[in-house]
Amino acid sequence: MKTNHYDYIITGGGSAGCVLANRLSADPTVNVLLLEAGGSDRHPFFHMPAGFAKMTKGIASWGWSTVPQKHMNNRVLSYTQAKVIGGGSSINAQIYTRGAAADYDEWERNEGATGWSYRAVLPYFKRAENNQRYANEFHAYGGPMGVSNPISPLPICEAFFQAGQELGIPFNPDFNGERQDGLGYYQLTQLNARRSSTSTAYLAPVRDRTNLTVALHTQALRIVVEGGRAVGVEVSSQGSRTPHVLRAEREVVVTSGTFGSPKLLLQSGIGPAQHLQSVGVPVVHALPGVGANLQDHLDLFVIAECTGDHTYDKYNKPHHAAWAALQYLLLRKGPAASSLFETGGFWYADKAARSPDIQFHFGLGSGIEAGVAKMRHAGVTLNSAYLRPHSRGTVRLASADPAAAPLIDPNYWSEPEDRRRSIEGLRLAREIMSQPALRRFVLAERLPGPAKATDEELFAYGCANAKTDYHPVGTCRIGPASDPMSVVTPELALIGLAGLRVADASVMPRVPSSNTNAPAIMVAEKAADHILGRIVARTDGDFHADSPAPDRRYAENRDAESTADSAVR
Ligand SMILES: Cc1cc2nc3c(=O)[nH]c(=O)nc-3n(C[C@H](O)[C@H](O)[C@H](O)COP(=O)(O)OP(=O)(O)OC[C@H]3O[C@@H](n4cnc5c(N)ncnc54)[C@H](O)[C@@H]3O)c2cc1C
Repeated sequence: MKTNHYDYIITGGGSAGCVLANRLSADPTVNVLLLEAGGSDRHPFFHMPAGFAKMTKGIASWGWSTVPQKHMNNRVLSYTQAKVIGGGSSINAQIYTRGAAADYDEWERNEGATGWSYRAVLPYFKRAENNQRYANEFHAYGGPMGVSNPISPLPICEAFFQAGQELGIPFNPDFNGERQDGLGYYQLTQLNARRSSTSTAYLAPVRDRTNLTVALHTQALRIVVEGGRAVGVEVSSQGSRTPHVLRAEREVVVTSGTFGSPKLLLQSGIGPAQHLQSVGVPVVHALPGVGANLQDHLDLFVIAECTGDHTYDKYNKPHHAAWAALQYLLLRKGPAASSLFETGGFWYADKAARSPDIQFHFGLGSGIEAGVAKMRHAGVTLNSAYLRPHSRGTVRLASADPAAAPLIDPNYWSEPEDRRRSIEGLRLAREIMSQPALRRFVLAERLPGPAKATDEELFAYGCANAKTDYHPVGTCRIGPASDPMSVVTPELALIGLAGLRVADASVMPRVPSSNTNAPAIMVAEKAADHILGRIVARTDGDFHADSPAPDRRYAENRDAESTADSAVR
């Protein structure tokens, strides 16, 4: 480290943190420090798309799990979260989705996230994007993140689309375009058959900036607050026995993820006073919303046995794996160029829903993820997740010791509606898998298995087998300062303390109806504009989509778009 004084300290080099490190250090007159508790992403598994298969099994993860889930027979679910530069974007399945336009309009209209409507956030999705196929109202090229279509799809994927059509679910070439519903290929955060993480896309190209310091293996332990202002961060780094304080002259930007960000705030004495007292952390700033409002997508899956080697399962055998590695090295093609979840889509459990409420991930194998059963012969997996859960959970400290794992309680299925819709989604997945178009590929369903048919049986199956889709959000939610459970303002400033922002997936007031990497990157892109004063804060309080002042809203959107465009150039 070159100095102990910085203008900005960013506490986590994940999907969001690397974006901010790039955008803030673009000004050569400011000094930026990016802290990351994990290490480098040098290992080839981080870059080869199929490396994902190793990721939920422990590589570069914090090793956390949930507390026993009261509404799922007290099951404890393992919960992979990234501990590596690039964060989730370095270990995820690379699926590039943004959710429904209505998700963001509801953030603004119902959650008090003024300035976060779809029209307002779309320019930030586009600013991030280097799309290899689309250039239109919804997509752009020239941004940092590579986004492309799968390189080596298999014939079973096309049969999956036909199966959907046999059920009345159309083919959709772009889930982030005009409409979200249908089945199709996902676009992926990949470029030239390599993963495009925020580490490779945002950080690597600017690592030689002299005003940017990236400190790996360095954990933020506590935010230092003096006179109502965050003035620095206490850190512990590998190789140094005693924690030390680094000063931030302008702002501390918290980007430690949906579990890590509230954990860091709580360790710093910022959060619900009673909880802090119960674990022996002195209260610095009482803020009851920190760690509340946790939401996630719970996933139920169907696994079927195939009629032959129609998926990538055979590449688990060493000689096939060697061939796949060679093919990838020489041709940048084949199984290793696949993230294994490249196909899927969105449909309805509730026919009257305003946009799809079920998401499918079609896995080209079995046992791809930790905790998911592996077939002896080639298998195929269809995941289904209910996208708009009503259940809310919490992140709490187990103790005042920063080394202790947080208590993660997604409180899955505490709302019966979530359980009902999840089971409907599972039934829908089963129906797709049993359509005539898939018969030449699929021998028989093995899980849940034909014997499990009633809601009670499927509930028991879900309790024993459901897994997370790794989309936790909401624990430092955006909201109006008048709401006691808001944690940050729409400008992402921590309510009640100066010099402190949160800017990652934790600020999302509701989980988008999709995967969450692109939304987290969008949050960071917009956060950069707030921090740099490129978006003028509104003085007229909350207003929403049906406000009588649309002209001003559109004016702001135009401003955001022009800033976004100019940054791309
Ligand atoms: C296994 C898996 C698969 C997924 N698949 C997809 C997918 O295919 N598509 C998709 O869109 N989304 C996917 N997601 C979700 C997506 O990756 C996340 O929503 C996104 O990465 C969240 O970004 P973030 O910046 O909020 O947090 P993260 O990316 O998790 O970043 C937080 C970072 O902060 C670091 N950190 C935490 N605490 C501290 C501290 N005290 N000091 C210093 N550093 C700290 C962490 O090590 C981490 O690097 C997946 C996630 C996982 C885990």
